[in-house]
Amino acid sequence: MSFFPKIRLRQEVEEYLRNVYHNNELVATLGADEAEKKFVRLQSHLSHPPSFTTVRVNLRMTSVEHAKRLLSEEIHKFPSVVIPIHHHPQLNDLLLIPVIGPRRALKQHPVQVIVGSQCGSAVLRGAHVYSAGILSATKWMKEGDEVSVYSDIEGKCKRGATEFDGVKVFIGNGISELSRSEIFCSNSPIKGKGIRMTEPVYLSPSFDNVLPGYVFLQNLPSAVVSHVLNPQPGERVLDMCAAPGGKTTHIATLINDQGEVIAMDKIANKVEKIKQNASVLKLNSIQAYCFNSTKAVTRDATGSGQGPPFPPESFDRVLLDAPCSGMGQRPNMACALSLKELTSYQPLQRKLFSAAVSLLKPGGTLVYSTCTITLSENEEQVAWALKTFPCLQLQAQVPHIGGEGMAGAGLSPDQLKLLQRFDPSLAVLCDFDINDMTCQEEDWTVLANTDTIGFFIAKFVKNI
Ligand code: SAM
Repeated sequence: MSFFPKIRLRQEVEEYLRNVYHNNELVATLGADEAEKKFVRLQSHLSHPPSFTTVRVNLRMTSVEHAKRLLSEEIHKFPSVVIPIHHHPQLNDLLLIPVIGPRRALKQHPVQVIVGSQCGSAVLRGAHVYSAGILSATKWMKEGDEVSVYSDIEGKCKRGATEFDGVKVFIGNGISELSRSEIFCSNSPIKGKGIRMTEPVYLSPSFDNVLPGYVFLQNLPSAVVSHVLNPQPGERVLDMCAAPGGKTTHIATLINDQGEVIAMDKIANKVEKIKQNASVLKLNSIQAYCFNSTKAVTRDATGSGQGPPFPPESFDRVLLDAPCSGMGQRPNMACALSLKELTSYQPLQRKLFSAAVSLLKPGGTLVYSTCTITLSENEEQVAWALKTFPCLQLQAQVPHIGGEGMAGAGLSPDQLKLLQRFDPSLAVLCDFDINDMTCQEEDWTVLANTDTIGFFIAKFVKNI
């Protein structure tokens, strides 16, 4: 059931995505009416958060049961809230926590705070409002005031404004921890928390810095990727676009920290984040490098082979979690991408993919993933890869929790079955009510597996 308006897109982008969902192959299977309904559902579901927060347990540091008990204690610090936590039956290291909401009956206060849409999305996934995210606050706002918080989904609110008449979406109530002047007027604006959210429209416990080392907040499809890669102890694994290291640390955990996990990212401060995460999770098998992965292959035999670039056929497994248009992210109430930006990723992904194939040993495994929903970054890339690299075979994925690939790129039905696409248009949005959490466990799993961010996974093996 929709609570927020559908995602706002530039018209050219909306048309492009509509065409993706109305491509000839898909319309031939579904019919034009069903294809349109699917596209309408997609736009609505993208603006809502997934119905579950998913937390990956670092099984090297603790057991799932122990992490579950500790998380329960954290959650129940919320007064009068009893939120059950479930163990995902197919993912041995994943916990599911329902997101309560939307809470439709919240009373709105006269003191208003407007935040940017990114900050708004974070609030809908359990964050408080940091002062840097605040764009506007009512003139007389004092520390300790009860305030209502709104997201400026069109990006039109001027920083420091006292009122805002543009399009805004109510995302919850909170208590101001700063006065208006402390946020906007002081010479050195105070950093840190600006609004402590007490009644968010979606109640999703904030696990920021909770049980560091034991748990890692990760979207469900992202937590599937490293299982699909299936790394083994003692192997040499490359994660080509790794920051902030969610999947790198998962890979290192799955090999029990025995082997070598090389993580690369082209942005230096993001590489620091990978190192930080590896250190917090106490994983020693990870080596992180700031490097442009399109240049990761060297034919120069004098290369040390320790750090990048690497000679061909250096790795048992390669993960390419590619930079992408990110159109599967949720909640996303407004996307400012132009069509040019949206369609700009395919060539870069192909360069990275070519390097990945070259770096893979014969018999090795390559996993390609994105957090987007377009054909051009997903199924079309698979069709291109199979044509360009006859040495690659598409492989079945374990676990296969999402749906199959989307028709429209000329892949056969058997090939589509080997792909894993998490398609938000298939989600059933649920209203979880704080007073009625009686849903059956099997139903939880079905909901959690379908109501996810948009995501795509393909697995290949290189011929011996
Ligand atoms: N795998 C990460 C995780 O699970 O935490 C998320 C990776 S994110 C989807 C894509 C990353 O690719 C970004 O951090 C970006 O900086 C990086 N990137 C973009 N172009 C790159 C390139 N040419 N070489 C290496 N990294 C690149």
